[in-house]
Amino acid sequence: MPKPIVVIVGRPNVGKSTLFNRIVGGRVAIVENEPGVTRDRLYQDAEWAGRAFTLVDTGGLDLRETGEIAGGVRRQVELAVREADAVLFVVDARAELTATDREVAAMLRRNNKPVLLVANKVENFSRTEHLAVFYELGLGEPIPVSAAEGLNTGDMLDRLLAVLPPEEAAEAQTDQIRIAVIGRPNVGKSSLINSLLGEERVIVSDVPGTTRDAVDIHLQRGEKHYVLVDTAGIRRKSRIDQPTEKFSVIRSLRAVNRCEAALVVLDAVEGVTEQDKRIAGYAHEQGKAAVIVVNKWDLVEKDTHTAGRFTETIRRELGFMTYAPVLFTSALTGKRTGRVLEAVDLVAEQSHLRIATANLNALIREALLHNPPPAQKTRRLKIFYATQGGVNPPTFILFVNDPELMHFSYLRYLENQLRQAYGFEGTPIRFFLRRRK
Ligand code: GDP
Ligand code: GDP
Repeated sequence: MPKPIVVIVGRPNVGKSTLFNRIVGGRVAIVENEPGVTRDRLYQDAEWAGRAFTLVDTGGLDLRETGEIAGGVRRQVELAVREADAVLFVVDARAELTATDREVAAMLRRNNKPVLLVANKVENFSRTEHLAVFYELGLGEPIPVSAAEGLNTGDMLDRLLAVLPPEEAAEAQTDQIRIAVIGRPNVGKSSLINSLLGEERVIVSDVPGTTRDAVDIHLQRGEKHYVLVDTAGIRRKSRIDQPTEKFSVIRSLRAVNRCEAALVVLDAVEGVTEQDKRIAGYAHEQGKAAVIVVNKWDLVEKDTHTAGRFTETIRRELGFMTYAPVLFTSALTGKRTGRVLEAVDLVAEQSHLRIATANLNALIREALLHNPPPAQKTRRLKIFYATQGGVNPPTFILFVNDPELMHFSYLRYLENQLRQAYGFEGTPIRFFLRRRK
């Protein structure tokens, strides 16, 4: 089920990142601190009252008080808002309304997205008369909160859930694979899509009835059906609409949230950049099967080792995603783009593998015997029993004496054993630990 995207906007120092941390904080991932995944504050999964959403902080956009927001920055905020399902517009309740506040408000009113006006830094709820000035922004009632103290943020989140689009029914089609084509601007995503379209029978269809201008492209290869999800942002090519690298990530988030398999497109000339790591990292964290496509391979001078060396670089730089097959393509000439859908078939199938419980437990027993978990002080991890909890991504539940005794490196070892025995090519694997006495 696709997660909605909630974007936080506001000028500097109103408390956007404090609010961001307040909302996402307290979420404890089961296996945290995975090495190699580039973390930044830009976006994070959050949950409130059982509803999951992706929170985006535009803090990196500097809405300075220059009288008028610099055109380029305003454009970026607009692009971020356009990809959003809802907006938290944060103002500082202790400060005067500024020209920038008014300008952002005007932009938000034009954009027609649900907006909550959040008046931050309210620590005294018996005196909120001064908030009345914020009605002037034309965005309804200001919601007083203190992000720093966590006051009233629960009410604010209740109101956020009320304005989010209703949860869509799970997209029931099982005979089609939903693919997100993700990557930085200019790596060749739309060229790749066009190349795929050139080869296969294509039905381009707009998704009706959604607040966003999503365009899904259906294509068929033999008996197989595919959907390239959320290609609107990729195919919409006017120059002023180009997001900066940082904000192009938001488009990738939306597409990843809706896909089963991601094509992570890299530029062969530029190699693996920090931004590539973020984008690929998001697909990984969301548990999506992935194929890495190194595009513009025609521009690289090659000898027999070039592809091998490039693959090594990818394995090192995208170390969290060593499971993903790597293809070298030229979307321009069409070279090897024919392999792309084959690879998608493979990783989609692998992400749905199920292992019989008996076989799984035999494998775990073997792995434990072969390489017992190291003791920590006087205690040693025990794994009593394992079962597969789900597919896409394959998820394994380990019943253990004490989850605290599990090391990331030992999970990696178990994961490698599973991959050696069963493949799971192109798909992340997840583990959950449950305590059992
Ligand atoms: P951003 O630039 O909008 O991301 O703002 P920050 O989250 O970095 O916060 C700017 C400043 O406001 C910091 O010094 C915060 O400690 C402070 N601040 C944030 N939220 C609150 C709040 O609810 N109450 C008070 N009193 N200060 C806050
Ligand atoms: P997007 O922003 O990721 O959708 O990238 P585009 O598909 O618009 O491609 C950006 C630029 O790279 C365009 O000028 C393309 O013609 C060029 N391009 C895309 N794929 C290739 C390729 O495989 N080889 C070469 N030489 N150029 C390419």
